Amino acid sequence: MAKREIIILPDKRLRLKSASVEKIDKSVRALVDDMFETMYEAPGIGLAAIQIGVPQRVVAMDLARKDEPKAPQVFINPEVTWRSDEKSAAEEGCLSIPDYYEEVERPAAIKVKFLDLDGKQHEIEASGLLATCLQHEIDHINGVLFIDHISKLKRDMVLKKFKKAQKRGEPAKFAEDKEPSHHIG
Ligand SMILES: [Zn+2]
Repeated sequence: MAKREIIILPDKRLRLKSASVEKIDKSVRALVDDMFETMYEAPGIGLAAIQIGVPQRVVAMDLARKDEPKAPQVFINPEVTWRSDEKSAAEEGCLSIPDYYEEVERPAAIKVKFLDLDGKQHEIEASGLLATCLQHEIDHINGVLFIDHISKLKRDMVLKKFKKAQKRGEPAKFAEDKEPSHHIG
């Protein structure tokens, strides 16, 4: 296992549409191991492979609270098959857009079809934090970021800050010093 570097805005790779995993082999298992190590270290609750620069449809997640045992979940080739009409709003953050948090409205419940590491197909219905996190991560493998769901004004402000920060070689700073949310993927 190895901790990998998380790519951040404005890295263009974040806009790539990731390719489906054709075969779950040793290299996919090694990728998943690295993703968990990177995610736990960050720390975050979800990570898409593209966030470590690998354009494959692989998502790692662990929604266990700090006082609970680890509960790693892997979603290979995840696909949303149903979305509720009902919407819900939750604050989101992203390891690829560090230190910026904003409320995002998404369908409150979804159904997701995916493969596990043994290649077995599952379909689950998710709501709450799991639904938020799955939608956030499935967006990543489609080249979509959570800031695409906020106002253009706010999105442009975030992009500008990250571009400037990249030029200066420093992390982007936001005036509002919010408590780091655990809703980070
Ligand atoms: Zn993210």
